[in-house]
Amino acid sequence: MKLTRKSVTAQPAKAAGLGINRRQFMKQVGITSGGIAAASMLGTGMMRRAEAKDIPHDAPIEIKRTVCSSCAVGCGLYAEVQNGVWTGQEPAFDHPFNSGGHCAKGAALREHGHGEKRLKYPMKLVDGKWKKLSWKQAINEVGDKMLDVRKESGPDSMYFMGSAKFSNEGCYMYRKMAAMWGTNNVDHSARICHSSTVAGVANTWGYGAQTNSFNDIQNANAIFIIGANPAEAHPVAMRHLLIAKEKNNAKLITVDPRFTRTTAHADLHCALRPGTDIPFIYGMLWHIFENGWEDKTFIKERVFEMDTIREEVKKFPPKEVELVTGCKEEEVYQAAKIMAENRPGTVIWAMGGTQHTIGSSNTRAYCILQLALGNMGVSGGGTNIFRGHDNVQGATDIGLLFDTLPGYYGLKTGAWKHWSHVWDLDFDWVKSRFDPNEYLGRVPMNTPGIPCSRWHDGVLEASDELAQKNPVRMAFFWGQSVNTSTRQNHVREALDKLETVVVVDPYPTMAGVMHNRKNGVYLLPASTQFETEGSVSNSGRSQQWREKVIEPLFESKTDIEIMYRLSQKLGFADEFTKRIAKDSNDMLVIEDITRELNRGMWTIGMSGQSPERLKMHTQNWGTFSNKTLKAEGGPAKGDTYGLPWPCWGTPEQKHPGTEILYDTSKNVLDGGGNFRARFGIEYQGESLLADGSFSKGAEIEDGYPEFSADMLKQLGWWDELTAEEKAEAEGKNWKTDLSGGIQRIAMKHGCVPNGNGKARCIVWTFPDIAPVHREPLYTPRRDLVSKYPTYDDMRVHRLPTLYKTLQEKDNTVKYPLGMTSGRLVEYEGGGEESRSNPWLAELQQEMFVEINPADAADRAIGNGDTVWLEGAEGGRIKIKAVVTPRIPKGLTWMPYHFAGVMHGESLEPNYPEGTVPHVLGESVNTALTYGYDPIAQIQETKASLCQITKA
Ligand code: SF4
Repeated sequence: MKLTRKSVTAQPAKAAGLGINRRQFMKQVGITSGGIAAASMLGTGMMRRAEAKDIPHDAPIEIKRTVCSSCAVGCGLYAEVQNGVWTGQEPAFDHPFNSGGHCAKGAALREHGHGEKRLKYPMKLVDGKWKKLSWKQAINEVGDKMLDVRKESGPDSMYFMGSAKFSNEGCYMYRKMAAMWGTNNVDHSARICHSSTVAGVANTWGYGAQTNSFNDIQNANAIFIIGANPAEAHPVAMRHLLIAKEKNNAKLITVDPRFTRTTAHADLHCALRPGTDIPFIYGMLWHIFENGWEDKTFIKERVFEMDTIREEVKKFPPKEVELVTGCKEEEVYQAAKIMAENRPGTVIWAMGGTQHTIGSSNTRAYCILQLALGNMGVSGGGTNIFRGHDNVQGATDIGLLFDTLPGYYGLKTGAWKHWSHVWDLDFDWVKSRFDPNEYLGRVPMNTPGIPCSRWHDGVLEASDELAQKNPVRMAFFWGQSVNTSTRQNHVREALDKLETVVVVDPYPTMAGVMHNRKNGVYLLPASTQFETEGSVSNSGRSQQWREKVIEPLFESKTDIEIMYRLSQKLGFADEFTKRIAKDSNDMLVIEDITRELNRGMWTIGMSGQSPERLKMHTQNWGTFSNKTLKAEGGPAKGDTYGLPWPCWGTPEQKHPGTEILYDTSKNVLDGGGNFRARFGIEYQGESLLADGSFSKGAEIEDGYPEFSADMLKQLGWWDELTAEEKAEAEGKNWKTDLSGGIQRIAMKHGCVPNGNGKARCIVWTFPDIAPVHREPLYTPRRDLVSKYPTYDDMRVHRLPTLYKTLQEKDNTVKYPLGMTSGRLVEYEGGGEESRSNPWLAELQQEMFVEINPADAADRAIGNGDTVWLEGAEGGRIKIKAVVTPRIPKGLTWMPYHFAGVMHGESLEPNYPEGTVPHVLGESVNTALTYGYDPIAQIQETKASLCQITKA
């Protein structure tokens, strides 16, 4: 689809639930077929250059190479720019990921260059009215309020909500800004989508990311999808699955309570009850072990403690699995048989698996299935974990998280010393920025902050229950929609209680409008990623350099500029930007930020992707294979597209990137690897190192620990370092040696810098050493609670966290229906941006609930009726009913992208003029309830209870 010279007028949606047909909708949003004259409706004086320009049709077209900013597939596109205006776009037919494919969201990207619904200038709420500010006023006022909070309550009373929409450089600077402010109260939406993946997967084999590429799925002989719906959530990834089906006759299994659009392509569909993933996987393993289908050599050489899993699996014979999951014995047997007979097979999951109180155990169970089958480290196998937002992988890698510094270094003093060294700062200065006192036995600098999923608890919780000096008093909501948090009633209460709310975003978002406030809210217009440049990491760990398409629209500023101006106001700009050059406009040089993060990210090998290498890949899309991602010729010859990490060593060492993690069939210098020796050398007397397995060409033909300066000396390899490398590497290890020398020498001898360990099936630092099934807090199966109880209530980092207290109460009489949620192809995340896009809004105009015909009939509800849905904690939403058998009896399903209506009331009057999205609707999260994974603090959005009545 080519979008050229189409435009829209600024007509706000009138109310929730438009209830109109396509033609009426088109009329309402004023889709017209010529010119960009509608830009003139935006008001004069607001725009930098988006006033109606009369562009001659023969004006020269400049082509910019950019990347879709919606999902983490990372599709490329050519943006056409004339006289500085984004006039057209084409999907990139030569792009290695999408080969000319786009979904609706990708096809509608040009709207970013028009932005009729965007914030146009800084504003603040004064006595209930939005008042225009200059940037100078805005930075001054916001900065003064921050300094007041710091003085009165300490640095932890600020909250820095960040974004998976930032570039890698934006993520890095935001995490650094929070560090230099002196708090770990910084996080972003990975917390609520895949934090349990990172925790579970990294604790199994070393790294918490997708192991293979989207393209590699083409090589699978079986595809097992649990809790994901790529046909809607990652449409271009679905293309690679369909190629595998066509080319290899790959068998597709979907495990999902709902009959999704992905399931429509499946050979086998297992409709499990939400939250019973572990019994299902153990049920498959029961057949695998019973029939001897496991890969015994792989397990012996590369897996630690499969025997514990064998014992756990014995508790789940076929009848028990059917009782707990609702899936028939034969279905589970068939799923196991298909995976056993069609190797290599891949396992794919997304938020259906992760967003549970036992999310970290679910993700470990999926990994264990692949370890048992020997499907890891091979093309066509692996765990392909589909991320959501375009840069949620990069934001996670760069530690825009409450529990780590960039590169998963954690928060211990050694990690702070490493990053202080990278920043060229005195560690004691960095330390001095933090509150030095202890709260409930925890020191703030070394204690994870408040998670994004529970920022509101950080505001509302009693001071003496919080492991920090005071509750949160002021918060940034920077590129993050608060309607993605469950318990929206508490979110609203917290927004009301905060002293100052600062939204930094291209759109007002819910933090700006869902409160009951009259004062104390700032809206600062950030530009989109098309108005700046920088790198972005897709779900397969490839990094892509986005070219700037247009200058920032209206009075918006780039994220990085806003951060820099704030640091100047707050008095730490010199430290914040010490190693980063400024251009003649006093703007930070983006490439220097990339170089600085390269300088520190040794743990995951995000060290070799210099801006020059990434830009060269972007300029040569067509030279990379869309099957192997390798450049067979041209300037990038031998590289894997986007240099997926680990791209070991320095950029000068020219590591090609790693398409498939843990692949021992290749030399480390060609992207080979093995499981990371992350968990030590032995556990209770048993070796944790690989047993006779090693990557091709390794001179140590067995397991070995992580490399360090001492290890190089013991091996007699130390003198192969240069004098400069020796000076930097002395006393360091592969993670902290900034010269890259330790990594270089390890690889020279064919060894992987992160050591060669076994993957582990047990995690002795987790509450459940092996994955254990625990019923959801709001379970419809009260008969199973005593056998599969949840955890005892516990403190997780700074916050008390409830489990048993909630599960003990039987809610099923008042709330007899199960409730789960998911994604639509038309929208993304909280939906504020995509519902403001007329091309997308046209396609999906109303919030709805899917209800089975039997449940609807019991309630006299017809298709299209308006209903009230009430969640088990009393949150009520007024929405449309879609009566359909694709959702099983007893369960309901809702999409999560809607907002702008709460408890049946439209929030439209709260928006600044001209910014109301085309489509408003109730948030599913108003009805969704409490529940958090104890490791990752991901929220439970997939298994709760509700009741539905006709409105
Ligand atoms: Fe591609 Fe995802 Fe963008 Fe769709 S939303 S075009 S699948 S990157």
